[in-house]
Amino acid sequence: MKRVLTELLNLPNVVVESSLREGSVLILSVSKKVKSAVCPDCGKKSEHLHQNQKHLVKDLPIGDKEVILNLNRRRFKCKTCRKTFTEQLDFVGTRKGFTHRYAENIVKQVISSNVSNVARNNGLSDEEVNSMIEDVAQNYVDN
Ligand SMILES: [Zn+2]
Repeated sequence: MKRVLTELLNLPNVVVESSLREGSVLILSVSKKVKSAVCPDCGKKSEHLHQNQKHLVKDLPIGDKEVILNLNRRRFKCKTCRKTFTEQLDFVGTRKGFTHRYAENIVKQVISSNVSNVARNNGLSDEEVNSMIEDVAQNYVDN
């Protein structure tokens, strides 16, 4: 386990097992700390690992490095239900190629970039553009 990288990554209950640098990309193999998961059907804890499933997801950069997480989304077998299930990860959506916090960062960039670009192209200040957005939104609500 890589303690410093785990601290830098700062995802709750997630540990970095190994890292690999490919040019400007840092690939971190991560897994959850706990050795069990809760069955979504009966709510019982299972420690019976059925399968390891690797996924690559983009995460926020560390320093000047792009970060890709090599994620182990484990499948467990519930002995009560006799079914397998995939563990839930709270920092990445199901079948998504990026973490929640990465998506939030991109959306923020898009919003601020759009306002600034529009303001610059029209000789307006950001405040004026924001005020127009509010005006339009307000009209939309009124109608
Ligand atoms: Zn179950």
